[in-house]
Amino acid sequence: MIRDKLQETQPIVYQTLSNAIKNRKFAHAYLFTGVKGTPKKEAALWFAQNLICEHTEDGFACELCDECRRITENTYADLIYLDGNDATIKKDSILHLQEQFSKTALEKSGKKFYILDMAENATTEALNSLLKFLEEPNGQDTQAILIVDSIDRLLPTIISRCQIIPFKPLNVEHYYESGLDSGLSSLDSYVLSHIVKDVDYMKEMSETEEYQTGMVVAERFVSLFDVDIHRFLVWFETEVLGNKDKDKDIVKMFLEILLIFFRDVVSNKESQTGWFEREVNRVANKNIAIEKILLILLESKDKCNRSYNLQLVIEQMIYEIKEVM
Ligand SMILES: [Zn+2]
Repeated sequence: MIRDKLQETQPIVYQTLSNAIKNRKFAHAYLFTGVKGTPKKEAALWFAQNLICEHTEDGFACELCDECRRITENTYADLIYLDGNDATIKKDSILHLQEQFSKTALEKSGKKFYILDMAENATTEALNSLLKFLEEPNGQDTQAILIVDSIDRLLPTIISRCQIIPFKPLNVEHYYESGLDSGLSSLDSYVLSHIVKDVDYMKEMSETEEYQTGMVVAERFVSLFDVDIHRFLVWFETEVLGNKDKDKDIVKMFLEILLIFFRDVVSNKESQTGWFEREVNRVANKNIAIEKILLILLESKDKCNRSYNLQLVIEQMIYEIKEVM
């Protein structure tokens, strides 16, 4: 049941929507915003079910009746779902919908819905004409839900006309488990669940050169940084650097992985598996100022983003870490 899932994973969203449902007080338009992988579309469909279901239990949609099912299967005549995931949503399709929606509702509830998924991929004209329409009296029984991964790409005029419902990212454990389910090794799943918040993207990234090389470099660094950091540097400069197109991505990934590693050392975390487990234990038992190392890594990552000379960034980083040891 979507209701249980929302209550468990998105308690604040659940609270806001269920209050509206209980009091039957709705905004013209809602804006569901949150990173990929959060259940925004499911929540939008559940919300629509709640406006039409006649078989409610303690005031909420049953999620099982014919109407509820047709909402989730996208065959409910007065629900129009536009998907910006594959193609831009243009003004024409909005005008076409308005035309349809200005007629009497087809279903007996009399409620009509728009859901615009990935609304950041709708043109501004499309969004403006949708929201204008919603504010007109004939739009009274019409409800819109815009779904976005990132609110930054919407104009303030659009945002200000919607009630914003932020979805919080799911916790790392959720992505770790999904990664395992999708066939990633436990170390890859663990590391990637800290880097991206979408299981498909985790899988994709696990196959990239920057990730695979980044992991090799990170392991080598960790095993040498307190023993012979100079040996690491020589190896890194001769064996890894050298491809202008890839170097930066590899270095950024390698620093990202080191940050995960050293944070685990600080929190003395029981790590999942592989070299992480072995090295976290080893390093945690030494008297090293890990907080200082974390700071150096963060600064180095920042320099990479601001496109300094990569080799220089790494050499300076190694020098600073040596000073700390
Ligand atoms: Zn129902």
